[in-house]
Amino acid sequence: MVGGGIAGAATAWHLARDGAEVVLVERDEIGAAGSGANAGSLHAQLQPQPFRERGLAWAEAYRPATRFLLESIGVWRGLGDELGTDLEVSLTGGILVADTEAQLREVERKVATEREQGLSSELLSAADLRTLAPYLSERMIGGEYCADEGKANPLLATAALARAAAAAGARLRPRTELLDVRREAAGFAALTSSGVIRCRRLVSCGGVQAGIVTGLAGRSVPVAGEAIQASVTEAVEPLIRHLIYYAGAPLTLKQARAGSILIGGGWPAHERDGRATVSGESLLGNLAVAVRVVPEVRHARLIRTWAGFVNATASWLPVIGELPGEPGLFIGAFPYMGFTAGPLLGRVLADLVRGRTPETDIAGFAP
Ligand SMILES: Cc1cc2nc3c(=O)[nH]c(=O)nc-3n(C[C@H](O)[C@H](O)[C@H](O)COP(=O)(O)OP(=O)(O)OC[C@H]3O[C@@H](n4cnc5c(N)ncnc54)[C@H](O)[C@@H]3O)c2cc1C
Repeated sequence: MVGGGIAGAATAWHLARDGAEVVLVERDEIGAAGSGANAGSLHAQLQPQPFRERGLAWAEAYRPATRFLLESIGVWRGLGDELGTDLEVSLTGGILVADTEAQLREVERKVATEREQGLSSELLSAADLRTLAPYLSERMIGGEYCADEGKANPLLATAALARAAAAAGARLRPRTELLDVRREAAGFAALTSSGVIRCRRLVSCGGVQAGIVTGLAGRSVPVAGEAIQASVTEAVEPLIRHLIYYAGAPLTLKQARAGSILIGGGWPAHERDGRATVSGESLLGNLAVAVRVVPEVRHARLIRTWAGFVNATASWLPVIGELPGEPGLFIGAFPYMGFTAGPLLGRVLADLVRGRTPETDIAGFAP
């Protein structure tokens, strides 16, 4: 296994408790990349930006990914109990708000598409918004409620999965980088920064690098990285119950159980020398949108803004499976919303590696 993010940790856990011998190498620390740097949203609804930019044809192609996210949220519901750790999962729903008629028309189209795809989305009037979420700005004229989504704490989840994997017998090797891979009669010889590991199967959960990792073993897959950023405020009194989006500009807004407000939505960060660094312009833009949607947010002091790379594919579709013509080489990459998808991705990858057909339909995601 390569990659100690949520996908790798979940896969290692399922494999180890199924009796497989698992070694997971992580070049940094467990959860140090996207899986620890994300904003903790559990997304189910079609994301407003690709829906606006790419339209119904994209939404139709994305249908199996919507099902995957929905099923993964089902796994999140019981995950804390299974792992014996409170992951601060809360599924009180997501609200997408609009403040122009044009935005509202688009929200209507999105709700119709989502309902047809099995999501429990419904339209909200301005009066519904006032009742359901009185903390939203009064300039919002309507929107969408999607009951399926919510949040979890990313600082807890990957660590808990990794602990469970180790307890089930997986050997976790942080600060160990995979450098090269050679095919051998019985599988692979993986050259790492702390020696060679021989394995029958190799699974890439390398996040932004997932495609590069499979490239080391013969075939790279087009998974890329985009530098984005998110911010967090000091803890304030309970205010925001839902996961909030805005139809007019990128925004995700939610309040963690500790009281801090997480402000994100995929605003671009700078990329310098292979590192993601915070863009002041994006920060101001993101905060302006947050205050436009939830005016009370202006009273919370900002504590921190951070940047990281999110794994990306051109189609937004995940890449999951054994590489064609490369027996024993697997990849698991769920772009943009890989935190939400991680628990199910781990289960599915473990099934594939064990030669079982997953119950989840992944036909559209073959590498
Ligand atoms: C700012 C930000 C906010 C986000 N918000 C959300 C959100 O609210 N909800 C959501 O669902 N998703 C969100 N995401 C996306 C989500 O974080 C990712 O899609 C997800 O974490 C990917 O998980 P992963 O396990 O596949 O990869 P990662 O977490 O990136 O883990 C991959 C690991 O592989 C390791 N690795 C790579 N190459 C090698 C090698 N050669 N040898 C050894 N190890 C290697 C890396 O060091 C890394 O730790 C956000 C992302 C960012 C950056």
